[in-house]
Amino acid sequence: MSKNLLFIPGPVTVAESVLAAAARPLIDHRGPEFKALLRRISARMQPVFGTQTAEVLILGSSGTGGLEAAVGNLFGPGDRVLACPIGVFGQRLIAIARNFGCEVEILDTPWGSGTDPSALRARLNAPDGKRFDGVLLTHNETSTGAQNDMAALAEAIRGYGAYTVVDSVSGLAASDFRMDDWEFDIVVAASQKALAAPPGLAMVAIAPRAWERIGANTGAQRFYFDLRKAREFAAIGETPWTPPVSVVFALDAALDEFERTGAAAVHDRHARYSAAVRAAARALGLELFSQDGAHSPTVVAIRLPDGIDGDAIRTSLRETRGVVVGGGQKELKGKIIRIGTMGDLTQTDVLGALGALEIALLEAGAPVQAGMGVQAALKLFLEADQPAAV
Ligand SMILES: *Cc1c(COP(=O)(O)O)cnc(C)c1O
Repeated sequence: MSKNLLFIPGPVTVAESVLAAAARPLIDHRGPEFKALLRRISARMQPVFGTQTAEVLILGSSGTGGLEAAVGNLFGPGDRVLACPIGVFGQRLIAIARNFGCEVEILDTPWGSGTDPSALRARLNAPDGKRFDGVLLTHNETSTGAQNDMAALAEAIRGYGAYTVVDSVSGLAASDFRMDDWEFDIVVAASQKALAAPPGLAMVAIAPRAWERIGANTGAQRFYFDLRKAREFAAIGETPWTPPVSVVFALDAALDEFERTGAAAVHDRHARYSAAVRAAARALGLELFSQDGAHSPTVVAIRLPDGIDGDAIRTSLRETRGVVVGGGQKELKGKIIRIGTMGDLTQTDVLGALGALEIALLEAGAPVQAGMGVQAALKLFLEADQPAAV
C-alpha cells in the first residue's frame, strides 16, 4: 500500500494508539466494562464542550445524525426557526429543519464570512414582532474554511429565549468552546474531526433547559434518534441500540491523546498549522476563500488561479504525490481546494503537503514561484518554536 497523507477535513489521520484501541477484542455493550467506558467518555467530553451542566450523549452515527437528533427532538411542524447558513453544512441544517416540518427563515451571509452578530440581533428583533422558536448556527463551516465568532453570536442571542442548535462538528476540540458561558442548548460534534478518531460517533451536548422542550415536543417524529431514550440508557451506562463498540474504544484512546497533549496545546497546533497553510497560499500569490477575521483553524479553503482546475490539482496530488486534500462542494466545485489541519499530523507532514501542492501547481502551469509557499510556512513554524527553544 502506498503512503498517503490525509489532508481532508475529516475523516482525518488517526494516531496508532487510537487505531490499536479500535482493534481490541469486542466486549458486551451491556456489560460493566462498556458502562464504565461510556460514562468516562461522556464525562471527559464535558470540558471539551465547555460545560459542567450539559449532558453529553454518545450516538452511533456520523455528525449528520447528531444534527438530525438535535433539530428533530427540539422542533417540529409549525416551529419558526432562524437558520444562519455560512456554507454547505449550514444549508444541510436548513434541509433537516424543513424535513421536520419547521418554518425556516434564513439569515444570509456571503460565503467565506461568518454570520454578522448585529445582523443576527436585528433579525431576531425585527419589527414584525414574530418570534423565533429556534436558531441554527454553524461553529466552523467546513465547505468555506470560515469560522464564526461564537462568543459574539451568543451575545446577540442572549436573553431572546430561542433554542439554539450549534453544529460544531468540525470546530469542537480545535479551539476554545464555552457552551455554558454562551448558553447554547444543543451542540453537536463527531468522532472523525478534531478529536481524530475514526468516523462512527456523534457527541451531542444537551443543556438542562433543552430537556424540558425535548420532553414537551410530543408530536416529534423520532425513533433511532430519540434523545429521551438515549438519555434513559446513558443513565445506566448504555446506548439504546448497538453502538460501534470499536469506535467507542478509539474515541476513549483519542481523548487520552487529547488530554495528554492538553487542550491549549491542541488548540495551538490547529491555529499554527492553519496559519502556516494560509501563509503558504498567500506567498504563492493565491487567494484565500475565507475572509480576514473569519479564518478557520481546521480547514483552509484556497482559490485557484484562473484556468487552473482544482479537481485536476487534487487528482495530481493524490495520484502522483500521495497527498489527499478536499475539493470545493456544490457551486465551489473545481474553484477551490480545502486543506484540513485536523488529525495526527506533524509540521513535517504540513511542509511536505505544501511542497507537493507547489509542484502540482507548477506542473499545471500556475504562475507560482517554486519554494515560496514552503518558505513562508517554515518561517511561521520557526517563529512559533522560538519561545519553546529558549
Ligand atoms: C463533517 C461535518 C458534518 C457531519 O458530516 P458527517 O459526514 O455526517 O459526519 C457536519 N457539519 C460540519 C460543519 C462538518 O464539517
